[in-house]
Amino acid sequence: LSSRASGILSALNIPTNQEISGVYDGQWKGSGEVVESVCPTTGEILARINTASPADVSGALTKSREAYLQFRDVPAPRRGEILRQIREGLAIKREELGALVTLEMGKIRTEGVGEVQEFIDICDYAVGLSRMMNGRVVASERPGHTILEVPNPLGVVAVLSAFNFPVAVYGWNLALSLAAGNATIWKPSPTTPLTSIAVTSIVAKVLEKNNLPGALAGLVTGGQPVGEVLVGSKEVELVSFTGSERVGRIVGQAVVSRFGKSILELGGNNASIVMPDADLSLAVPGVFFGAVGTAGQRCTSTRRLFLHRDIADEFLERLQKLYSALKPGDPLESDILLGPMHTPAAVNLYKSTIDYLRSIDADILFGGKEYDVTPYDGGNFVQPTIAVPKSVDMSDRIWSTETFAPILNVAIFDELEEAIRWNNAVPQGLSSSLWTRDLRNVGKWTGPSGSDAGIVNVNAGTSGAEIGASFGGNKSTGWGRESGGDAWKQYVRWSACTINFSNEAPLAQGVNFNV
Ligand code: NAD
Repeated sequence: LSSRASGILSALNIPTNQEISGVYDGQWKGSGEVVESVCPTTGEILARINTASPADVSGALTKSREAYLQFRDVPAPRRGEILRQIREGLAIKREELGALVTLEMGKIRTEGVGEVQEFIDICDYAVGLSRMMNGRVVASERPGHTILEVPNPLGVVAVLSAFNFPVAVYGWNLALSLAAGNATIWKPSPTTPLTSIAVTSIVAKVLEKNNLPGALAGLVTGGQPVGEVLVGSKEVELVSFTGSERVGRIVGQAVVSRFGKSILELGGNNASIVMPDADLSLAVPGVFFGAVGTAGQRCTSTRRLFLHRDIADEFLERLQKLYSALKPGDPLESDILLGPMHTPAAVNLYKSTIDYLRSIDADILFGGKEYDVTPYDGGNFVQPTIAVPKSVDMSDRIWSTETFAPILNVAIFDELEEAIRWNNAVPQGLSSSLWTRDLRNVGKWTGPSGSDAGIVNVNAGTSGAEIGASFGGNKSTGWGRESGGDAWKQYVRWSACTINFSNEAPLAQGVNFNV
């Protein structure tokens, strides 16, 4: 192993000379397929992981159920104290864990560390929540009656996550699920197993110290077959799935067919609209970060850019200057803003999309090629690309599908209404942003005739959400909400409890049933 990698792994106590157990249910194990964790920057194999066999998954589910039965009686503020300790455990290893995210996923270091910070933040939030997950007292129409709406722990929550946020998405789910009194079982992306093992180890230590079962935060690494078992299991009350629309459609249908609950956080196809009155000194860097940050591999990455005709030339000139100044390289280095794509398959997707852009005679203003980044010949580097397709028919595949790569497609508009129509004309509805200084545009954009996305920003880019608001998208993005806001309400079961404390037993709606 290179010293670049071994330093990071050993700082997190990950062994570097043996196969690593990728299942945790109170004990570390893994008798399934062996997968390799590969560094996207160098192509180096970082580790071999023993993933979950079907027997490992069903054993882990049994342990999760037992853990839930014990944990559901622990008072919520006490559950909050566990989260506080998890927060401390993460904070101590923030830099090391952030570096591992960079090593294994490929995003730049500040973004890797930022993801861990997001987990820390949501723990803080959930500590507070643990004293505020209140039900309600409802006015009863019957004398001497009270109606309570009561939240209780739900059961076992399975979290299936995507490669691009290997820490934060699990963090959002674990924090709320644990505060709500559930056991959580995590199936991370098969290409980021090391990060999930490092995170689970930190959480497991806290549980152990508090004499709680490790299966409260279980881990089953592996690919599609492991995911399928969790999704199909009646032992799982809630499936929280983050990933592509293609897989989300399968998962959503499978969960509904057994009347389970799901949260779906699927693909985005996010637009930024720039009005002629926009402050370009904000809008240009905002669009640049949205389109190029994480090498275009955020669900909230800016993929469509609608420019008002009056500022289009100037905007594109300034944007291209920023693109030209980008230096690709090792995302662990502090001056690098552009790391690799996560896998060679992602590079192929990029290349086939560029081929398609050429086939429809799009103007490629910038990029369009792979990068050779010496000395990282094994790395998956591509040039961030700006293209102007000839057609603005939003049903064309270049506009209507999410390409998970740094490709920004541009169109020119004359009226805000036209740009809003384009914004809303795609299947996805995750994030959107409008750049303007005119209050009338803001009202239109955020109102009933405005953006139909789950995230509707003004003078802020499409990516880079905070944990306080609920996060998620509409339409084919899946309607799911996670993190802040009212998202916690999905992690509990709600009961309406009518309590009669009178000496009569009147029926509701004045029904008389006396013989
Ligand atoms: P993916 O859909 O390929 O995989 C997601 C997860 O599903 C992985 O853990 C995978 O192993 C598992 N899986 C695959 N087939 C399965 C099946 N049949 N049953 C159960 N599980 C199965 O997604 P990806 O390539 O890892 O991630 C990129 C996608 O995720 C993009 O579309 C991106 O927009 C989306 N994403 C969305 C959000 C959001 O909050 N909306 C956040 C991050 C990523």
